[in-house]
Amino acid sequence: MKVFKAILFAFVSIVIINASANEPEKECVPQSEMQAISQVFTQFSELSKAPFCNDGSANWQLLSSLMFMRKTQFSANMPQSKDELFSGKFAKDWYGYFAARLNRLEAAPECAKGIIAFVRPGIKTMHICPMTFTDRYSSVDRATVMMHEARHQDGFPHMTCTRGARKDVHKACDVNIADGGSYAVTTETYAQFAKYAEGVHPAIKTYSRSAAIIYADEAFENPVRINRSERLLALTKDGKFFSVDTQTGESKQLGNADAIGRIIRRGPHLVIFPEDKTKKAEYIFADGEGKIEQSPSDFVSEYNAQTPEQKSALVDYHIGGQWTAKVYKNSLTMVCDTRGPDISEIQIPDGKEAIGLSYPEGYARESFKIQLLTATGDVFDVNCENKKASVSLAATRLDQRYTRIYKANGVVVGLLDGKLHKLDGERSAPIVTAIDGMISEIVPQQSFEFFNQ
Ligand SMILES: [Zn+2]
Repeated sequence: MKVFKAILFAFVSIVIINASANEPEKECVPQSEMQAISQVFTQFSELSKAPFCNDGSANWQLLSSLMFMRKTQFSANMPQSKDELFSGKFAKDWYGYFAARLNRLEAAPECAKGIIAFVRPGIKTMHICPMTFTDRYSSVDRATVMMHEARHQDGFPHMTCTRGARKDVHKACDVNIADGGSYAVTTETYAQFAKYAEGVHPAIKTYSRSAAIIYADEAFENPVRINRSERLLALTKDGKFFSVDTQTGESKQLGNADAIGRIIRRGPHLVIFPEDKTKKAEYIFADGEGKIEQSPSDFVSEYNAQTPEQKSALVDYHIGGQWTAKVYKNSLTMVCDTRGPDISEIQIPDGKEAIGLSYPEGYARESFKIQLLTATGDVFDVNCENKKASVSLAATRLDQRYTRIYKANGVVVGLLDGKLHKLDGERSAPIVTAIDGMISEIVPQQSFEFFNQ
């Protein structure tokens, strides 16, 4: 028998949200709700004789996710975006949509790496993979997974991407967002939650916004039109975020940070590795949204379990669409295919000492090539093309020993001694800002018209 599996890949959702902040019922599902749910999902009939409270079980996770779909409040009006991010096609009644297509939720004992959930056509059972039950997943993540799988009951199989961050990944793309397939549902549910959910913690909304953007940018064969702009985010030594116009140097103060440190990107998400090694690496939000508690990835959890001394060994960390590189003082640990088992340990040639990664072409998830800055000023190419790890001396020459280099809003910016410089090959010119001498970290960040309207 030919079995078609509609699957959802986990490139993005390696995230958890503090569920207690956005779940409609704190710790128990009332009996009336249990009864309503078990009318469709009869597997819960036995449990519906009483309220069902959080016992940490898979049943709790499933029921709390269904409750999330039933109870999350959205704005009365949810206008569509001017671009292709949000059409509102799936906005009305998440639970009604889901329950009309699926009537059984089953925890799959195991799944292939990267797979979150799957359904089989014509069968109203959703199989949910173990990863989904970990604390890396929140209610909003699980709700988007459920909506995605429900959409497969209407057809809409995936394709292998031929371009972008998921190039050559089996069933990791849909053709067009306008077709309204499963990845469109994922994108739209995250976007809807980020823009229109009411009474939700702002950091969870920002998280959701970034998740919508990753799917929109990466899970479609034809690029999704999104109206966006880019700013350079600067973190000052006294823990304040500023946005800096790289063309004019004009700066605007945003929110505060709990710590200073190395900020890395996972798509639009920002994660800080604090200089104070007693602190944990975590998501950060630059506009004063506050925090979410969960770890952004397995590696971050691993890192946070280390001693301050062990943490100090890590210099930098790159997360690409399908590869990662951990930078240590004299070596790199590279995984050129995050779905495969191979890990490469590479010494930096000639015993050079790493300062950090450099992004003269901008941070791009689909690129397999970045650069490494060293204490002597030598620059190395760090490369995972064709799934082969290499670190080799680059042709790049710099006029000064920058600690960070990023391209943002069309300008290549270097950070040195708390000041910004506009780089042009081997020449540079200062970008004068009101926070000169105070800048400890920079990272480019995009903003999106739909969420800012
Ligand atoms: Zn799917």
